[in-house]
Amino acid sequence: MSRSPEWRQDPLTERLVLISPERAERPMKSAGVCPFCEGHESETPPEVLAYREPGSTPNGPGWRVRVVPNRFAAVRLDAGTDWHGSVGTDFQSVQHELDAKDRLEVCPHGSAPGIGVAEVFIECPYHEMTFCNLSREQMADVFRAWRDRLRFWHDDGRVAFVQIFRNEGSAAGASLDHCHSQLIGIPFVPHSVVEEVNHLATLRGFAGYCPLCRWVESGRNDERFVLESSRFAAFGPPAPRFPGETWLMPKFHIHAFDALGDDKLLEMADVVRDLLARIDQVFDAPAFNLVMKLPPFPLNDAYHWRLEILPRVTRIAGWELGTGIFINTMFPEDAAKLLRDAR
Ligand SMILES: [Zn+2]
Ligand SMILES: [Zn+2]
Repeated sequence: MSRSPEWRQDPLTERLVLISPERAERPMKSAGVCPFCEGHESETPPEVLAYREPGSTPNGPGWRVRVVPNRFAAVRLDAGTDWHGSVGTDFQSVQHELDAKDRLEVCPHGSAPGIGVAEVFIECPYHEMTFCNLSREQMADVFRAWRDRLRFWHDDGRVAFVQIFRNEGSAAGASLDHCHSQLIGIPFVPHSVVEEVNHLATLRGFAGYCPLCRWVESGRNDERFVLESSRFAAFGPPAPRFPGETWLMPKFHIHAFDALGDDKLLEMADVVRDLLARIDQVFDAPAFNLVMKLPPFPLNDAYHWRLEILPRVTRIAGWELGTGIFINTMFPEDAAKLLRDAR
């Protein structure tokens, strides 16, 4: 049994790091049998959600999407409560509305138990390795599962922020090749998220409208426009970190992904499949990350969620580590034109 995970904050830089020895024990390659394939349900922890055929039994075959706790979790809800220290203002600012009973804050300039939740979305019962190859119905079920687990953790109240992400290809950090995505929920809101939420609220207050709603309204007039459907639009961001980085946004104002209705999931799957096929064609099937940008649970209404697609075409190196500034080898306007013209 590994030592419990811990949040550590550096006193000089205030950088927050999660120390998690258990994470090192995760399998880096699927050796032999794949634990995510149908028929191997006993090799994962018991499911917390599954979309199943009528009559099938939990933790047996007959599912389309299955969600299980991450066996090699970076964080745990039972990591402990034995910590002390002051609470940082960033954390306080987003937590004041919450019932503090079950809430655990991280103390700056110190350490705190690695409290949190980590779950894995097994995206299909068969051994498919490419997200883009899932059918539109299968992919819509994946988005439905993301939404349903977000709703669950929102209602649960023990975590303040949930990150949903997907790594495909080893250059993007994937350790198992069977299609899967992940959720990590933590009891505080990361500094970068607090900054973005505050900045968005300031812009909104200043302009009197949501900047993302205004952005999607510009549509094809934006030179970084990639594609759109009736209710979603995709653009290259003005300052992308990677060539081909693309943001998908709903064209209507909706703060949180957990509020997305069933009727939009298939359309979202169509747009994501189209985008990924174009990225595959233009950038030669790169490893990529999907990152859901979501508001923290207590500050929902000013946000406008988006899905970021990050092709890992270039590597992060010393400059990026030293400065936090990315060097991108392609202008976003050129990348958007390539993606628009693809297929
Ligand atoms: Zn498999
Ligand atoms: Zn909006």
